Amino acid sequence: MPVSRRTLLSAGAAAAAAVALPHGASPAVAAGTRAGLPVEGAAWRALRRALSPAAQLLTGCAPVDNQRYAYPPPLREIVCQNEHDVQVAVQWCLVEGVPFRLRSGGHNYAGYSTVPDGVVICLGERMHWLHKDGQRLHVGGGSTNSDVYDNRGLGLYFPGGRCPTVGVAGLTLGGGLGFNDRKWGLTCDRLVETRLVLADSTLVRATENENADLFWACRGGAGGNFGVNTSFVFDAVPVAQLRATVFDLTFPLDVAVPVVQELQHLLDTDHTHDLDVRIGFKHARDGKAFLWVLGQRLGPEATLRRLFRGLLALHPTSEFIEERGFWEAQDHLLDVPEDRECYTSKSLVPDRWLTADALTAITEWTRGWDPGKARADGYVTLFAMGGASAEPAPHDTAYPHRGAKFVIDIGSRWAPGASEEESEAALRQTRQVYRTLRTLLGTDAAYVNFPDPELVDWQHAYYGGNYERLVKVKNKYDPDNRFRYPQSIGTPELLTSPRPARAASAPR
Ligand SMILES: Cc1cc2nc3c(=O)[nH]c(=O)nc-3n(C[C@H](O)[C@H](O)[C@H](O)COP(=O)(O)OP(=O)(O)OC[C@H]3O[C@@H](n4cnc5c(N)ncnc54)[C@H](O)[C@@H]3O)c2cc1C
Repeated sequence: MPVSRRTLLSAGAAAAAAVALPHGASPAVAAGTRAGLPVEGAAWRALRRALSPAAQLLTGCAPVDNQRYAYPPPLREIVCQNEHDVQVAVQWCLVEGVPFRLRSGGHNYAGYSTVPDGVVICLGERMHWLHKDGQRLHVGGGSTNSDVYDNRGLGLYFPGGRCPTVGVAGLTLGGGLGFNDRKWGLTCDRLVETRLVLADSTLVRATENENADLFWACRGGAGGNFGVNTSFVFDAVPVAQLRATVFDLTFPLDVAVPVVQELQHLLDTDHTHDLDVRIGFKHARDGKAFLWVLGQRLGPEATLRRLFRGLLALHPTSEFIEERGFWEAQDHLLDVPEDRECYTSKSLVPDRWLTADALTAITEWTRGWDPGKARADGYVTLFAMGGASAEPAPHDTAYPHRGAKFVIDIGSRWAPGASEEESEAALRQTRQVYRTLRTLLGTDAAYVNFPDPELVDWQHAYYGGNYERLVKVKNKYDPDNRFRYPQSIGTPELLTSPRPARAASAPR
């Protein structure tokens, strides 16, 4: 790719030039030559010298959330503390021919942010920062949802997810859904600028007017494909004066069908897009099976109670409804992480409401779930979509599913230590309901932020008609396919996933 076609940021270009390449080799010559081989001590020492003093080279760590992929750990984790470190790290990996992956929050479902025989380039604590510029929020590439919540004093918000430790990078690059996407769009819809270190270690900016094709791809084209995103700028929403009513209800499965039908009706008639909800069918490992309805409506409690009259008449087993300030409402909706677990997930993104048949199928499956020896939870969760998230056309950003009614997450969680056979029993059950729903809903569209290594035509399931355009962007910005993992854009060959392993006895 000719450099002149991009805008090189001067500071970045200078930093890149300052990186002393080990052995004086160029990435183009040396890449791939030592993959899988132990890296010499001299090379690590050269890397250490080139990094900033605050950067770290860690060994033996298990940097990912999903414990199926935590072991074996990568050879090293390069904890970058600034953009220069990222440039050094990318260049070093290419010169040494060491496979690498990128990590921000480490929450990729399929372990794509780690690699056992390579290094993980991760963005350390000094790359967790937020600052405000008018109505824009500038966010460091290592930041997580909790950094956004911790900076609530700035009075600005952009729609994000509910797990505090999920990275803004992965969330944004793959789309980003949450309890405010119907009101203000997906996380990627609020992005106005991002900076990336590319495979040739240059630093570029991507906006609507600068490297516009790359900017398009960074809004839904998924992390790990084009470069290392070192920072983001979001068009944020002033929320300090807003109030929201949170609701947290559980119902017996006996009334799951009418409950979901009523919620579908409420969503369909919610023309202000103030209502957002997550509907969870769950069979917990302790044997309890129920429907969990969690969400918020911007505005007063009295209005919500009026709207929910029909829903509450279906007799929830537990009921919490409370009006709060905007941030306090988000606090209630947060999913505070428990111990790290093993999990699997499949997704479907239907553009039609669920029929009674589909809802009955999910209900029966939930009821019949067998936690097995792995003592696994089984769940099907429907995240309401539509509203502002449906306003862009499918090709306006790389995220294509603009007509979606729901993103459906189908999965299972279990504690580390289960044997392959025991976890396979949980996987079999998730595959079964996935197949049933795929047929009943007439779609195999999937959400790239809930990646599924078993998906066959993942290219079109994740990206719809945008895949071919993503390949063009990939070929332009990463022509030698340096940034790659099993489901990366333009994957030319079958690459092996990190093997799910038992994680019981491994230290953290
Ligand atoms: C408990 C939990 C809750 C979740 N809740 C939500 C939710 O509410 N809404 C939602 O939409 N999704 C949710 N997700 C899915 C989540 O959005 C994705 O897993 C997301 O990709 C995670 O981003 P991360 O930075 O934490 O993960 P990572 O594993 O660090 O990264 C994800 C991908 O992006 C790449 N990457 C990481 N950092 C960078 C970077 N700086 N530049 C370029 N590429 C990078 C990685 O290599 C990997 O391929 C949840 C996941 C979990 C496990």
